[in-house]
Amino acid sequence: MDARLARIIFCPDCQCELAGATDHLQCTNCTRIFRIESGVPIFRDGPVQTIPPEHRSNALGAEFEELLRDGSDLILHIGAGATSRKYPNCVELEYNVFANTDVVGDAHALPFRDGIFDRVFAFNVFEHLAQPAKAAAEIWRVLKPAGAVTVHSAFLQPLHEAPHHFFNATEFGLREWFDQFEIEQCRVSGNFGPGMMLGFLLSGIMSAVAQSDVSKEALAAISDSKIGEWAGFWAGTQPPPPAFGVLQSLPQSAQAKVAAGFELIGRKRPK
Ligand SMILES: [Zn+2]
Repeated sequence: MDARLARIIFCPDCQCELAGATDHLQCTNCTRIFRIESGVPIFRDGPVQTIPPEHRSNALGAEFEELLRDGSDLILHIGAGATSRKYPNCVELEYNVFANTDVVGDAHALPFRDGIFDRVFAFNVFEHLAQPAKAAAEIWRVLKPAGAVTVHSAFLQPLHEAPHHFFNATEFGLREWFDQFEIEQCRVSGNFGPGMMLGFLLSGIMSAVAQSDVSKEALAAISDSKIGEWAGFWAGTQPPPPAFGVLQSLPQSAQAKVAAGFELIGRKRPK
């Protein structure tokens, strides 16, 4: 394991020192043992997958690549995925082992000391966290005073990476998760513009339909429908487009990927 990494990692359970060995680390306080696989310390339970090195995630964007290339900031990249290049001043944390992963861990319990990073990146991670506010508090903990966080998180996106897709947040929800931070900006970045939203949602609808048992005619009715027809129907100025009934009668498994919301009925569990 990299010597610099060894100096900044920490028990994620009790935030105490770890004692090193070649194949595992052990917390000097709670005695929990963390295995090391191919030089990567594993700070979470359960099986860890090794993702084939040819796998590539989406490019980060020029402004973020520039910060990484500059190298003056120590950066934690949460959910880095399969980055195309390894930067020496960036610690990549992932849930599984990708080509450049430094540490496998859980964003809800970061295995790092307090106040050590200049910057944290978390792109397309927060919608996949069961307790996003807890993860935001962890980012706050590991940042230096005045350290910066940059987050990209889902708003109008279809279900993806199920069942690990928990929250689609509005701007106000995202601000709420990060309310410990001084928020300098909360804007729609180019990768999330309304054109991207339409493409992503409509592609989600088409694939949900294609995976359902619908006729070629029904598929064509959806594909050929016009945005103006749907908007006019919602505004009450025209009847529903012919494809409306097709979408409304898709199986629940398909509807759940692209629905406007869910109905939940619960019952108090007896003690
Ligand atoms: Zn511990």
